[in-house]
Amino acid sequence: MGIKKSLAFESCSNYGFVKKAVKRFMPGENLSDAINATKDFMQKGILTVFTHLGENITQIQEAEEVKNHYLDVLENIHNEKIKTEISLKLTQIGLDLSFDNSLLFFNQVAQKASEYLNFVWIDMEGSAYTNTTIDFYRRTKLLNENTGVCLQAYLKRTEKDIQSLIDIRPNIRLVKGAYKEPKEIAFKDKSDVDKNYLQLAKFLLTQVKENGIKAVFGTHDLKIISEIKKLASNLNVQHEQIEFHMLYGIKTTEQHRLVNEGYKLKVLISYGSAWYPWYMRRLAERPANVGFVLKNIFSN
Ligand SMILES: Cc1cc2nc3c(=O)[nH]c(=O)nc-3n(C[C@H](O)[C@H](O)[C@H](O)COP(=O)(O)OP(=O)(O)OC[C@H]3O[C@@H](n4cnc5c(N)ncnc54)[C@H](O)[C@@H]3O)c2cc1C
Repeated sequence: MGIKKSLAFESCSNYGFVKKAVKRFMPGENLSDAINATKDFMQKGILTVFTHLGENITQIQEAEEVKNHYLDVLENIHNEKIKTEISLKLTQIGLDLSFDNSLLFFNQVAQKASEYLNFVWIDMEGSAYTNTTIDFYRRTKLLNENTGVCLQAYLKRTEKDIQSLIDIRPNIRLVKGAYKEPKEIAFKDKSDVDKNYLQLAKFLLTQVKENGIKAVFGTHDLKIISEIKKLASNLNVQHEQIEFHMLYGIKTTEQHRLVNEGYKLKVLISYGSAWYPWYMRRLAERPANVGFVLKNIFSN
């Protein structure tokens, strides 16, 4: 795939220790690695979501390659009989180049997914893309019921965004947010982000109960997960109506516990060679991961 690699990626990716550290968060660079990992997960009652790493492509041809790749992925998922959804970034299918063209590409992917009774998620990128992504989701959801969008609890606007989408019965994956955002628009303290996450979760659970929307909680925060379970129980939302999503390689014990308790749990598996910006966000989220990389340098 013609996704351009950054200079930093070029200089880092050649080192074995970096590859080893990245392995902690992805089973491998190829689609077949993600498929094999899914087969293992399925035996434990865990389903997956695939994302091919890449963002901010600069050529329409690259966007088309990404779109064709996801069409192939859907074919593969279907043929392999694995239970896997997909999740993609709009800038990966050319949002920076053309809204209309990326909508066309996305709709092709969503329609193919619909033929296979599958589901497509839209990731949320930095705040420069929030308005456009929400507008994009509104338009595609009218055509494609089997689509959902990620919203970020660190953004002060998110409550209004959720409310503005209620009329289209949205499918929402709520996360804390992974980008560096200014304090004017985003909560900076962990306690404020967590508080907002729980407020939004409560609202979403009410909507699950009253309007049958799909709400997914993308978090590894055990305190938040525990609060969500309590909120759901108070609202009489059944275990199987709640879905948690986590990233591959993080909080694996909790993943199994949730499945054993009867909740739906999906693991997001990233693959592909363009892992550098994505991996840097994982490091920024948790500085302890830098220690993990260093340990790998010295154990190499
Ligand atoms: C399925 C899924 C999809 C996502 N999609 C998006 C998206 O589209 N847009 C976006 O902005 N963000 C996305 N994110 C990332 C998200 O915004 C957070 O940055 C990330 O999930 C960490 O937040 P947390 O809720 O786990 O809470 P935190 O408070 O950050 O973490 C809670 C605990 O989880 C563990 N943990 C968390 N992150 C790591 C890590 N990297 N390495 C090791 N341990 C860790 C630690 O023990 C930590 O104490 C997604 C996350 C998930 C799970």
